[in-house]
Amino acid sequence: MTVRFVTLGCKVNAEETQQLREGLLQAGFVPALPEEKADLIVVNTCSVTHLSDAKSRRSIEAAKREGGFVAALGCYVTLHEEKIEGVDLCLDSESKGEALGRILEAFSLSSPEQESQAQMHPRTRTYIKVQDGCDSYCSYCIIPYARGCARSMPEEEILRMVATRIAEGFKEVVLTGIHLSSYGKDTGSSLRELITKVSELSPERIRLGSLEQGIITEEFLETVSKVPGFCDHFHLSLQSGSEKVLKDMNRKYTPEEYEEKVHLIRRVFPDAAITTDIIVGFPTEGEKEFLESVDFVRRIGFASVHVFAYSRREGTVAAKLPDLDPQVKKKRSARLRQVVQKEQEKYLERFIGREVQVLFEDHGGLTPQYARVEVAFAPSSGTIQVRKVLRRDGLVLRA
Ligand code: SF4
Repeated sequence: MTVRFVTLGCKVNAEETQQLREGLLQAGFVPALPEEKADLIVVNTCSVTHLSDAKSRRSIEAAKREGGFVAALGCYVTLHEEKIEGVDLCLDSESKGEALGRILEAFSLSSPEQESQAQMHPRTRTYIKVQDGCDSYCSYCIIPYARGCARSMPEEEILRMVATRIAEGFKEVVLTGIHLSSYGKDTGSSLRELITKVSELSPERIRLGSLEQGIITEEFLETVSKVPGFCDHFHLSLQSGSEKVLKDMNRKYTPEEYEEKVHLIRRVFPDAAITTDIIVGFPTEGEKEFLESVDFVRRIGFASVHVFAYSRREGTVAAKLPDLDPQVKKKRSARLRQVVQKEQEKYLERFIGREVQVLFEDHGGLTPQYARVEVAFAPSSGTIQVRKVLRRDGLVLRA
């Protein structure tokens, strides 16, 4: 039996698909070749923007046309289940954990044995979902409605999963969550404690998913600075560099507070990559506020920024505000992306002439700062001497 996976959206979805993939492969499914009709197609959907909705819808339709068993999972199902017809299994975010059992049941298969597939798949990076849901209710965001309130995965389960993945040969453990910074708030623990416990299992590297600036404190940085293999890559969600827009977005910090956290990080990790997301064209963003974001990007010197044009989500507070002209959003996004690229180049140039540690995955890999490295031949050792920064799809370091 063959299976194909279509995964849209965030790293949490990627991790959930990975878990499901392993279960299904262990139960006897094999991955379908690109041109082959699959017996089972799993579409793990996303609903974070209109574009994600459209992609989710198209992926489900394409899967249906293949004629096999179609399982649609996740956020798009939660919010638009009534629009989905003709699929064999529909599981919203709340119940997608049942996917493996339900699929095996439909195919009259029994549960997979817990044997390792490590030899079959070369492995480097594994995403471990430690938290789901969010209580922040940013005014533009549908996630708290789609994924529910913030809840942490049981610590034991996380540590068991990490230990399994390390035993399977994974070298880098990425802890992810919809609102990772709130890990432990419901269980009397904290992300700091979790990182320490994960590090006791000795993965080669530990990386964190998206964080909120509030989690950055001296104690937090002191803890992670002692963790062997901790990647000095901090994805600190920003969304806007304008104090007014942040307030309208119901984000609970000012640009100055954010900047202070960046300084704190750089005092401990001078080469840290600070990356972020910025929404351009929020309804209350005028030219003045947009330029504040541009200035802020320059001031911080981000290593990378995902620039999103604001997309109205029905059911959110911001959806009641009049939308900006799409052309304005488009132009602002392009202007900001140009600035971001220059900043990224400046950030990467600091590595020229230096040795960087790389986790190789073929003819390249990633440094702890998530800088992409390209080499003609992957050396056996994990370091390369950087000679230049090259433009490919994005910017890469070249040995
Ligand atoms: S913190 Fe804000 S943007 Fe992030 S998931 Fe929660 S509500 Fe959405």
